[in-house]
Amino acid sequence: MKLRGGNALGIYISIPFCRSKCTYCNFASGVFLASDHARYVERVIADIAGARTWSEGRGTELPRRVDTVYLGGGTPSLLAPELVAQLFATMRAEFDLDVDAEITMECAPGQLPDATLAALVAAGVNRVSLGVQSFVDSEAHASGRLHSRAIVEADLKRLRTAGITNLNVDLIAGLAGQTFASWEESLEILIASEVPHASVYMLEVDEDSRLGREMLKGGARYRARLVPHEDAIASMYERAIERLEAAGLRQYEISNFCRPGFASRHNLRYWQRRPYLGVGLDASSMLRAPAMHCESGLVSGRDFSRARTESPLSESFAPVDSLALRATTTDDLQAYLAGTGASEIEWLTPAQQHEEAWFLGLRTNEGVDVAALRAEFGEELVDPAMETAKRMTEDGLLDFDGARARLTARGRLISNEIFQEFLQPEVAESSRRT
Ligand code: SF4
Repeated sequence: MKLRGGNALGIYISIPFCRSKCTYCNFASGVFLASDHARYVERVIADIAGARTWSEGRGTELPRRVDTVYLGGGTPSLLAPELVAQLFATMRAEFDLDVDAEITMECAPGQLPDATLAALVAAGVNRVSLGVQSFVDSEAHASGRLHSRAIVEADLKRLRTAGITNLNVDLIAGLAGQTFASWEESLEILIASEVPHASVYMLEVDEDSRLGREMLKGGARYRARLVPHEDAIASMYERAIERLEAAGLRQYEISNFCRPGFASRHNLRYWQRRPYLGVGLDASSMLRAPAMHCESGLVSGRDFSRARTESPLSESFAPVDSLALRATTTDDLQAYLAGTGASEIEWLTPAQQHEEAWFLGLRTNEGVDVAALRAEFGEELVDPAMETAKRMTEDGLLDFDGARARLTARGRLISNEIFQEFLQPEVAESSRRT
């Protein structure tokens, strides 16, 4: 069995509360009553406390050691200080957090009261991600954000004064009303802020967002007609890469840029397929489980766990590989609060993990280490994918130097299409012929 991550776990906690709903947002987040916050944290605490039993019941490995924690949302900084303290007290009671664990909290500018900031510092939060999206006030407001450039700058100052210097700023290319000039302005201000990490996303309008519905059905409330053309959005993204790299923020993933030593360790674990426990609304976990060959074939984690506990291992069981369990909690808040929402559970076979290894690895500028893939998954799975990789290399979408495959600059612009090819090679093959 191969386990990744040196037996360390990452924990993601979803806090789905927002003070207002952004026009482009389709996440399972919303504006809920403050009274729901305490009930919600109570449920999250119960899930953290019950995680070991839950994992054992499925035969998965749940390392006690934790090296990254990420509170995302939503807007976790809306939690009252005592709720932040309760969450971390439970986490520290159930798991061993490394002394140098990276502990990130997402915050909305202007929505981080002094008492909450003090609670974050006391809890050990050492990285904050600010959802800025645009430093141009009119764009931010039109997208449903409540802050201004001045508020963001004041928050960055407060965070640094409080000792949190590992800071990320999110920007979105393609907001309604955005122009090349206003995009340059946002990039300029981001660079001047000297944050060590930036995330830049190209707007993808989902039809379930208010902006998406207005694009489909018409209307003027959310300025859908002012969303830039996709070619313009791609040019803005390319300009961001150029400007940020020149300013010392090196791209290390499709959407992420950092100064040396400031890559997000938590997000890297997703792309490197290291295990994580997701707790809260619509949160995903990926845990590994031993798989065994027995006379009747491959035995997955739950059955393996039962075999291991109910009878001594016989000679007919031999560990061959690891399976991965993906579990996603319900996105229905009331069901989650009532404890009635079932999690979706899926076992990923080695073949499915191999597909993920391609599309997750290609997200990073380091790319995919082909020898490591062969060692983990064998020729049978890797060889057909290499045919796809070679074809993409001929098309200028991948750069393959014989050891690693990486997306080219052009490939990054259509990364989702490229990932599809690795998911469905037979579909890719037929579309290539037409
Ligand atoms: S802050 Fe984030 S989660 Fe909340 S509405 Fe805006 S985009 Fe969605």
